[in-house]
Order: sequence, then C-alpha cells, then structure tokens
Amino acid sequence: MKYVTMLDRFLNYVKFETRSDANNKAIPSTPQQKEFLKMLKTELEEIGLSDIVLPEENCFLTAILPSNTDKEYDKIGFISHVDTADFNAENINPNVIKNYNGKDILLNKEHNISMTVQDFPNLENYIGKTLITTDGTTLLGADDKAGVVEIVEAMKYLIEHPEIEHGDIKIAFGPDEEIGRGADNFDAKYFDTDYAYTMDGGVLGELQYESFNAAQIIYKITGVSVHPGTAKNKMKNATTIAAELAMMFPEKEVPEHTEGYEGFYMLHSMSAKIEKAELIYIVRDFDKEKFLERKEFCKQVAKKINEKYGDVVVFEMHDEYYNMGDVIKKDKRCVEKAELAMRNLAIEPLIIPIRGGTDGSKISYMGIPTPNIFVGGENFHGQYEFSCLEDMEKATDVIIEIAQLAKK
Ligand SMILES: [Zn+2]
Repeated sequence: MKYVTMLDRFLNYVKFETRSDANNKAIPSTPQQKEFLKMLKTELEEIGLSDIVLPEENCFLTAILPSNTDKEYDKIGFISHVDTADFNAENINPNVIKNYNGKDILLNKEHNISMTVQDFPNLENYIGKTLITTDGTTLLGADDKAGVVEIVEAMKYLIEHPEIEHGDIKIAFGPDEEIGRGADNFDAKYFDTDYAYTMDGGVLGELQYESFNAAQIIYKITGVSVHPGTAKNKMKNATTIAAELAMMFPEKEVPEHTEGYEGFYMLHSMSAKIEKAELIYIVRDFDKEKFLERKEFCKQVAKKINEKYGDVVVFEMHDEYYNMGDVIKKDKRCVEKAELAMRNLAIEPLIIPIRGGTDGSKISYMGIPTPNIFVGGENFHGQYEFSCLEDMEKATDVIIEIAQLAKK
C-alpha cells in the first residue's frame, strides 16, 4: 500500500477492526489484530527498516532503524498498541473535517448524532485545524492507531533524510493494551533500549510519567439459602452481606469524587443471589504506601465480614501494574529529553499524572523507563473520539526531535 500523506495512512489504519477481547485468552485476543500487524510488517519492510520481526509468542511487531553515525547516542524506543477499546469498531467510517469552524459537528445525519461544543468545549482549541471524527456509531481508534502512524511516519522521515544523525532506534507495536495484557508479554530484554516512549497519550503536549499503582480485588461470598418461612437463625443471605460489605468502603474515595493525585476504590461489578455473591473491586493510588494501605483495608473488610458471619467470604487480590514514576524518577533523562523536544518545537509540555496505566507502567518495571507522549486526539474509547491531523504531525516531529536529542 502506498500513501501520499500521513492522513491517507491513518485513514487506512483506523478502518482495520482491531478491537481486543478480554474474554479471549489467546495472544493476540482477536485474530484481526494479527492481520493488522502482518500488514504493518509489510509496510515497515517497504519503508526500509531492519530486523523486522513478529514473533508468535507475544505478537509484538518490532523493528530497528540502525544508527547512521559514529557518534554516541542513547538507545531509544517508541511503542504503540494496535488494539482498540471495548466499543463498537466495526465498519469504522472516518470523517475528515478540514479547516474546522468551531461549531457543533454533525457526526451522523441519519441517526442525528452530533458532537456539540457545549458537551465538548475543547473543540474550540481546534478552530482552523483538520479533524478526523467518527460517523457517530463506532469509536475512531486514534487510540492508538494515531500513535502507530506517528511512529511509522517518523521512521520514514528519518530514512528519507539521512542528513539527520541518530543512534539505534527501536520501535514496537503490540496487541491487547486495552485489556491490560499486551505488555505482560513484551520482551524487554530483546528490545534493549536505555529508555522508550509509548505514543499513547491524548491532547497536544501531554507528557506523562506517573501512573497509578493498580490492584484488583474479588470477594466471593457463599450464603446459605433456606426457605424464607423457616429461615430463622439458618439463612445467610449473600445478597445482603454483599451490600453490607460494599457499605464498609469510604463513600468519597471513589472515581467520581477524586482527581489529581487522589486514589480510590471502585466497585467494578457485582452479582448476587441468596446462596452466592461476588464483588469485584479495583484499587488505585499513585503513592506506594497508600496503595499498600488500601489493599490492607480491603483485606480487613473481608476479615470483619468473616468474623461477623463465620467465614463466608473468600478474598482474592492481585496487582495489575505499578506507578512507572517510581522507576523513572531514578533516571529522568527520558522525561527531560521529551520535554526539551517539545519546547524546541514550541509545544508547551503538559505534564500530568495518568489516572490509569499504560504499557509503559509495566515496561518501566521491566527495566526500560517508558513515559507516555500525546498522539493528538481526544474522547477516546467512544463515538465522540476524534484526532487532529496537525497535532498528529507534531507528535511525529517530537519523535524525530527526541531521536536527535538522544545524543550523549
Ligand atoms: Zn491507548
């Protein structure tokens, strides 16, 4: 496939349906992701990158742009994910709006779906620019096809401009980020870089190097079901026990009441009958100590219920990912270079903690500090997702600039 512009490439990539599936244990979780990666592999070959591999075990497509100088450079990498979030991704029909006029955007005439300036006041930041939106029935998948395109375009640019000196640059495109699994199989030893960047952030300027510490908790409650007429002193109603358990959590420490560096507990899902109930919680905190305290609190909740009702709760807990900031703070070169790259390009760095995780949250703990950089899009994971072509081009410029600043 030959593209004339970055936009052509992006429009082609987003039309590939690559939604991941949390219920499928396969790698990747959906075969379409692999199809997309195979296509991408061919394109990397056409561009002229080296050592292009797509291993069966982890489905992380990697390639190298070899150094073109004798001078010493840090070994750097850029990473994006190819899957899209859990939202309709069939027949994605992107719409390009050139020279956006700042007014409400009619996404779909037939179904009368609009993106209004009232609901999305950020739209005013894009007047005069080129926006790519959905037709209101799917997501766009700029998260993270925009990141993929930006990395590919940056590599293509560096190959076409050999006068720009750079060291070894590695790139990786992986599956299943949205279901929290992709990076588990990332081969950090093979990737072997001093630091790397995920291109997976939102608006222009975003540079993120702190993420949540994250754990999942499951309470499994076993009740005793007895006919209600003869239940006295016999029934243990798992439904009401589950409700009591949920009420033990602090009312204000939930996502809808927290922001910035504040952590929370969230009841993610719950199913309950008299004989059996299950509650799934997620726990999030930036601070390691507070994170441990929160996990201990969850444990104590189970203990108290068990003391009151006699061992009715089985408690399960597992960590999902950790705050990459704790790793990156030990060697902040990656953040400093990204910040400088943005300033050199007249982009104001927007350094904010991610109230979530990225592939970098895991990869940083594998030994490669990996902050996250904007891709130039907003409203990810739904039908109001859009990206801005000029900001995507700036993300590509940031990659090219970092490649030069990696000089020792
Ligand atoms: Zn993403």
